[in-house]
Amino acid sequence: TPKSSETVVDGCKTSPGNSGSVGPGGSKRALACMRLFEFVPASVAESEPQQNSRSIYRSAYLHIRLRQMDPQGEEQQDREDLDDDEVVIRPESDVILETGSKGPYDYDLIVIGGGSAGLACAKEAVACGARVVCLDYVKPTPLGTKWGVGGTCVNVGCIPKKLMHQASLLGEAVHEAAAYGWNVNEKIKPDWNKLVSSVQNHIKSVNWVTRVDLRDKKVEYINGLGSFLDPHTMTIKMKSGDRKITSQTFVIAVGGRPRYPDIPGAVEYGITSDDLFSLNREPGKTLVVGAGYIGLECAGFLKGLGYEPTVMVRSIVLRGFDQQMAGLVADSMEERGIPFLYQYVPLSVEKLSSGKLLVKYEHSQSGEVRSDTFDTVLWAIGRKGLVDDLNLANAGVHTFKDKIQVDSYEATNVPNIYAVGDIIYGKPELTPVAVLAGRLLARRLYGESTQRMDYTDVATTVFTPLEYACVGLSEEDAVKEFGADEIEVFHGYYKPTEFFIPQKSVRHCYLKAVAERHGEQRVYGLHYLGPVAGEVIQGFAAALKSGLTIKTLMNTVGIHPTTAEEFTRLNITKRSGLDPTPASCCS
Ligand code: FAD
Repeated sequence: TPKSSETVVDGCKTSPGNSGSVGPGGSKRALACMRLFEFVPASVAESEPQQNSRSIYRSAYLHIRLRQMDPQGEEQQDREDLDDDEVVIRPESDVILETGSKGPYDYDLIVIGGGSAGLACAKEAVACGARVVCLDYVKPTPLGTKWGVGGTCVNVGCIPKKLMHQASLLGEAVHEAAAYGWNVNEKIKPDWNKLVSSVQNHIKSVNWVTRVDLRDKKVEYINGLGSFLDPHTMTIKMKSGDRKITSQTFVIAVGGRPRYPDIPGAVEYGITSDDLFSLNREPGKTLVVGAGYIGLECAGFLKGLGYEPTVMVRSIVLRGFDQQMAGLVADSMEERGIPFLYQYVPLSVEKLSSGKLLVKYEHSQSGEVRSDTFDTVLWAIGRKGLVDDLNLANAGVHTFKDKIQVDSYEATNVPNIYAVGDIIYGKPELTPVAVLAGRLLARRLYGESTQRMDYTDVATTVFTPLEYACVGLSEEDAVKEFGADEIEVFHGYYKPTEFFIPQKSVRHCYLKAVAERHGEQRVYGLHYLGPVAGEVIQGFAAALKSGLTIKTLMNTVGIHPTTAEEFTRLNITKRSGLDPTPASCCS
């Protein structure tokens, strides 16, 4: 039974000390103390009203410690290496808690991986009363790029990607502004180094807030590489030496890293998305090898920033996505001047005396060999699960294609070992999926919940210059599952009002609803190509999950003039053969 000062969330106890706000006087004093030192990241200072005074004092204290150890304010990973990671600071008194727990094991739970899945799981498990340690370690890329706690999303994934996409959209917006009457006299050009430093500063502040949050929530965190000795024992490689720890339960949340092709010069001269967002030189003319969402997004923002990307496609664009939509995405990028080399594979990368990279590549069917020079070669050919360092054989955990197969409870074949996030086989590799799965797993393990993760109907967005978002089934998957005769596809092109004045191309602004043909016409999938796609689809995702039908969609009154309202105006089926191009924006 929770004490009166505790609240219960899904079977887990939280106390006000973990999240609540405390008296304004305390906060003011703590803030004043922090301002004295003038080093508190803006993001922390801004959150003053939400922070309790103890946590602000502690944040200040921790930051002083980090600064004392690292007066130059060097890289986050350096701070982590220097930090005393085997301890957790007790909120009340800054006393170091001793490790070791009741029972035969040091911990109830060891979470391996401090990314989206691992952090969510570790924090929730602690809130449910478990004694938890979370390990995180990032091996530098061949170029030497490394980063702090938080995993792929924060450091080399969603966040820097979205920021660079935004930078690119802003460039486009400035050009459009002239058509709208703004006096944009100078030819604008991007400053890559400024962009990189702004993005990296934001990431560092997120790393810092993440660590403070872990301490606030009493999650012990170790900056070390974990590998199994047996199903209950793990060795952690740290800067200070190896440490052996035991636990009743393990959650593997190690995620993945980009693959390199096995061709000469790939590792020496190529980079991946792990390097791009902190690259200390302009990318210039860039060969993006791979046409998955990461490759297309990188090519898209590089073009928007004024560089010259070319996309090399081995087989198809956006594998796993609706292929009609994928084709439109690629066409819209080509229309913006991004060349696509279809059916080509790279053979070698060589560095010329000029510093340029000579890439030889081959047509996969005709065998024709071509070459071209680039400033940057970006490998975006897929990601590999980080199973190798874990020594999973010592624990008896089976792997499958560099991933771990789990059942619907995220359990591996070893009873006390679970896996969540990108490391699990066959599930969407997305941050919100990792977060929710990690949180639900912790609630099932240590709370009173029995709720399992639902991996179906997960909405997602491809942040290409013209964005693509979808939820539910692709047209081909719906046909595969129900048969072509049982599927009705409602579709239409549309003209965003804001595109008219700057005369932006509306050729690829298209959307469709894949639905049941008969009966209540349940909607199986929604697909949208156009501006702010993620914002458009998010709400429709909730509707689809709640059993949306075509009738409901058509009876929904739109918000005019928006692009999201186009879903409420869909009335032409593919089967009818009628022209889905509208006469005007408001017909
Ligand atoms: P990760 O975040 O990768 O965390 C795993 C952590 O474990 C890492 O820090 C790793 O170094 C560490 N680790 C590995 N092995 C060990 C070990 N043995 N011991 C200790 N630590 C270890 N998703 C979206 O939802 N939206 C997007 O827009 C989006 N954009 C993306 C863009 C890019 C360029 C990339 C690469 C990914 C993007 N993703 C996006 C995917 C998203 O980042 C991942 O789905 C998410 O980060 C997975 O979280 P995770 O916790 O499973 O793994």
